[in-house]
Amino acid sequence: MSSYCLTGPKGPKLVVLSAPSGGGKSTLANLLLHRHGDKLKHSVSYTTRAPRGAEQQGEHYFFVTDDEFKAMIKNGQFLEYAQVFGRSWYGTSREQVEGLLNKGLSVIFDIDVQGADSLKGLYGDRCVTIFILPPSLEALEKRLRDRNTESEEAIKNRLKAARAEMGRAPGFDHQVVNQTLEASVAELERILSAAGVL
Ligand code: ADP
Ligand code: 5GP
Repeated sequence: MSSYCLTGPKGPKLVVLSAPSGGGKSTLANLLLHRHGDKLKHSVSYTTRAPRGAEQQGEHYFFVTDDEFKAMIKNGQFLEYAQVFGRSWYGTSREQVEGLLNKGLSVIFDIDVQGADSLKGLYGDRCVTIFILPPSLEALEKRLRDRNTESEEAIKNRLKAARAEMGRAPGFDHQVVNQTLEASVAELERILSAAGVL
């Protein structure tokens, strides 16, 4: 069977969650994966940044060197890649995503607005883009600080970037204000059911 049948309008989808750093996209993606792991799989990105906290190689990211990342670009191994916060590089593996779609599984992405634009451009209606908004910039700052994973300088950079990123929310297919996790997961499940993912 050709992969075309499996990835047509009724086939598996690409679900992109974007949010400013600290907006809650990884927490929400994990909750969806926990509840719907039979239909949805996570795209594990490659990055040149160092692991933080308890992050594991191959689980949260594939951590690679600048040279390894450049070689992957050269070999056409990324569906999309971008430099985020003007520092580290992040990329989505073509082989991983196409492998999952060809098995009939939908793929969930926790990527930035540049990545969302690229995947929408490549996959059109098969790509469902969702922007997660914090209830306010104050709430975002508190969540980012309470997460306790960033230096003061990184927090300042991420808050500065957040203002610009949030301006991009209207261009996404859906917007979800992440008040409580329970309400946000219910809203995401409603969107994904309507899109034929769940
Ligand atoms: P992102 O992946 O977008 O950077 P995270 O999922 O790491 O964001 O969330 C940032 C922090 O905010 C985490 O410590 C997470 O537990 C917390 N958080 C996420 N959503 C909520 C929510 N609805 N209410 C309270 N805290 C939240
Ligand atoms: P973090 O360093 O906090 O894990 O991620 C920083 C930013 O990079 C987040 O906005 C995250 O969504 C984004 N990101 C992670 N992986 C990818 C990817 O493969 N491509 C793109 N474009 N962005 C990514």
